[in-house]
Amino acid sequence: MSSTTEAEPKTNPTEVGNYFISNYPPFSFWSPDNKKDVDDAFQQPHDDGAALGVYHHIPFCRKRCHFCYFRVYTDKNASEIKEYLDSTITELKYFAKQPRIAGRKPKFVYFGGGTPSYLSGKQLTELTDQMKAILPWDEAEEVAFEGEPGTLNPRKVKAIKDIGVTRLSLGVENFDARILELNGRAHKADEVYMAYEAAKNQDFDQLNIDLIAGMLDETEINWQRNIEETLKLRPDCVTIYQMEIPYNTTIYKEMQTSGALVAPVADWQVKRRWVKEAFDALESAGYTVTSGYTAVLNPDKTKFLYRDELWTGADLLGLGVASISHIAGVHYQNVNEIAQYTEAIEKGELPVHRALKTSQEERMIREFLLQMKLGHVAVSYFKIKFSVNLIERYAEQLKELAEEGFLEYDSENIRLHRRGLLCVDNLLFKFFLPEHVTSRIV
Ligand code: SF4
Repeated sequence: MSSTTEAEPKTNPTEVGNYFISNYPPFSFWSPDNKKDVDDAFQQPHDDGAALGVYHHIPFCRKRCHFCYFRVYTDKNASEIKEYLDSTITELKYFAKQPRIAGRKPKFVYFGGGTPSYLSGKQLTELTDQMKAILPWDEAEEVAFEGEPGTLNPRKVKAIKDIGVTRLSLGVENFDARILELNGRAHKADEVYMAYEAAKNQDFDQLNIDLIAGMLDETEINWQRNIEETLKLRPDCVTIYQMEIPYNTTIYKEMQTSGALVAPVADWQVKRRWVKEAFDALESAGYTVTSGYTAVLNPDKTKFLYRDELWTGADLLGLGVASISHIAGVHYQNVNEIAQYTEAIEKGELPVHRALKTSQEERMIREFLLQMKLGHVAVSYFKIKFSVNLIERYAEQLKELAEEGFLEYDSENIRLHRRGLLCVDNLLFKFFLPEHVTSRIV
């Protein structure tokens, strides 16, 4: 990734692989051999001022989307779900007693998946009552929750509000019934409007809708319609992902069967242009672009603590199968099969699959990469926290990216131009340590 040609080539078809960078060092460097580091992390005192967040993973979905690469379960019955949720409570009880966590209260809580809204109102209430009894949420400034429109009705949405959710995110992805069906989404187009109205009526602090640019069979006309429908709903926040086709997706399996090297979705240039057009339209309607993926109506009021705290080094206690945690500088991920997870919990073992203890330098790079996705990095933050002058350390890379028109910088700030922001994940590899640059970043 060392030239314009590579970062933003003229034609760049969507091939298989992960494009989105969500952590650093990459997951492929985390290892089962490092599990002991997880124990050690929880024995550390909490004396560094890091905020605490809790992530709860609900791995159940009504149907598997064709672009999904998560391990999700579409066939679990109520007692199996209960067994899973009980295991996550046992996991929380154990960690809440460890020196690193004991006595702290979460600043933010996140329910992700899978589909958290797959759970019934009763299941959600029971689960969260238990969680709050172990680690009280009374100081949490944000409780975020992912909802699949087809699972939401006014009663369910009220239950979600009643458990304390402040930020509800609707996985709309597309407004067209045919495209939703073709991509394997479980919800129907009209359910988007019903779910949105039910959510509006509950007056959440923040309502977000997710869209995906470049779903199977997306067209220019339909993408414009997605933008128009979004503007009509006028949510507090809009998040737009560019479709990637990781290994382990149904789409990739079909590519393997047919021998195709290129996924049957729009090129990266087209997807970027679609996001740009959406951002332009949202800005014209009063929104502010606050990252490479998000636009918000009121940037003073609409924050996303889960992202912002995580990207500035918060501790994140992940619960449940395949969840990802970051505690006292140690990354780890839980095992990704429910049976393995519940068995480990029953035996009183850590359900950890792989881990990595990061160095101070890796933590600095991680925060820098993640903050670049916001489109602005304050140089002073890194001087104070890591004693690193980014402008000196990355003189060569910054100069090159500035010359290519992706960003501008001075001694105090690095600012990505819209062109850079739209392909920010492609630019970040330049800042990796050499040992972490691999052909396949996952
Ligand atoms: S709803 Fe999300 S987690 Fe569930 S199958 Fe679809 S993409 Fe995967």
